[in-house]
Amino acid sequence: MSTITYNPFEIAQEQFDSVASVLELDDGLRKLLRQPMKEIHFTIPVKMDDGTTQVFKAFRIKHNDARGPGKGGIRFHPHETADTVRALSMWMTWKCAVVDIPLGGAKGGVICDPHNLSLSEQERLCRGYIRQLANQLGPNMDVPAPDIMTNGQHMLWMLDEYEVITGGRYPGMITGKPVGMGGSLGRTEATGFGVIYVLKDYLQQNNISIEATSASLQGFGNVAEYVARMYTQLGGKVLAVSCWNQAESKSFTFKKEEGCDIEELASIKDSYGSIDKEKALELGYELLPGDDWIKQDVDILIPAALENQITPAVFPLISSQVKIICEAANGPTTPDSDILIRQRGITLLPDFLCNAGGVTCSYFEQVQCNMNYFWDKDEVLEKLERNMTNAFRAVYKLAQEKQLYMRDAAYIIAINRVANATKLRGWA
Ligand code: NAD
Repeated sequence: MSTITYNPFEIAQEQFDSVASVLELDDGLRKLLRQPMKEIHFTIPVKMDDGTTQVFKAFRIKHNDARGPGKGGIRFHPHETADTVRALSMWMTWKCAVVDIPLGGAKGGVICDPHNLSLSEQERLCRGYIRQLANQLGPNMDVPAPDIMTNGQHMLWMLDEYEVITGGRYPGMITGKPVGMGGSLGRTEATGFGVIYVLKDYLQQNNISIEATSASLQGFGNVAEYVARMYTQLGGKVLAVSCWNQAESKSFTFKKEEGCDIEELASIKDSYGSIDKEKALELGYELLPGDDWIKQDVDILIPAALENQITPAVFPLISSQVKIICEAANGPTTPDSDILIRQRGITLLPDFLCNAGGVTCSYFEQVQCNMNYFWDKDEVLEKLERNMTNAFRAVYKLAQEKQLYMRDAAYIIAINRVANATKLRGWA
């Protein structure tokens, strides 16, 4: 693995700077868009089950809300940093813009490891997060959602705390809620399915049959599981998936030559997306080191776990068979690897386009909550596929017309939309 450490916020700024030059944005606008408009850093004291108090560091960062209320998940992660949250908030702005939904970009995080917290400690942490932020959040201000190691239960505790504080019912203040409690059908599947709607359209436009392709995935959490489900449902073969093993503090790759049975793997994973090693061995899976997912002889690599996984150090390990990198995670590829991907002629389907299905469905959830009228799952997924396909086609068309790398084409479309909204509001 590489010894270089990548700062995600510097990467996000570098990406922005290069597009700002192409778009010839003026100085004031660049200064405004290359950093978050608002940052809140705070601490959350939590009474632990044993009577002691632990203090957790937390963030909520809003990058830009010119196109609509802030939108972005809350991550619980022991290695969370302000710069990661800053970068992710900026990527949320571009993500909402590239799929053309009327929302801005925000993100939140708490430095903690929920593996080491009981459910009641997690509830107190969620409620503490909202107590510190209630006056900054709301359906028309900033709308959080689940992300790494947070789920619908966490969102509902947060909503409940918000409603206790404000004295009303505001189901549209947070998304990713359980179905029946203001959640949208299809939200669980949305991010993963959205990735495959984009991949499917790319393959169709290039006359490649999905049934003839194979893929290797990093991660088997919410996103990766539904990526794998939809991809195999359409006939693709998942050769390998890797995930983190908490007990051993390392990752493993699970491989089956004839293709992984996703239903089977999903039945032996825990709620954090870790596959049970012993059960997988019993089911005939080959167990490889965690980083081996990237070395597989497949057509498509789908990083769906963490940022900065495809680096120049690991790039030479990528098989010559790989023709597509479909980024399901946020920021899985470092900019210096983008150069190598282009040189090798691998097609890159960029993260903030591919994984925008989650935020698109969150937007649908907000719309349904505000109307107090809920759509059936088919309607949600139909609308989702249409949005994702339209967004992909606009990016692909620009990339084809101007001979652009697809990440650059997606940035040009997204940044242009945000820059126009910011100018129209008279902010710069
Ligand atoms: P998750 O917590 O449900 O799953 C994360 C997965 O990554 C788990 O399977 C875990 O075992 C695995 N993992 C962790 N460290 C690993 C390592 N070193 N090697 C291999 N696997 C490892 O998270 P998620 O919701 O599936 O999110 C995954 C990625 O997608 C993140 O980058 C997240 O920001 C992004 N994303 C998520 C959503 C969403 O709706 N959940 C939306 C957009 C983007």
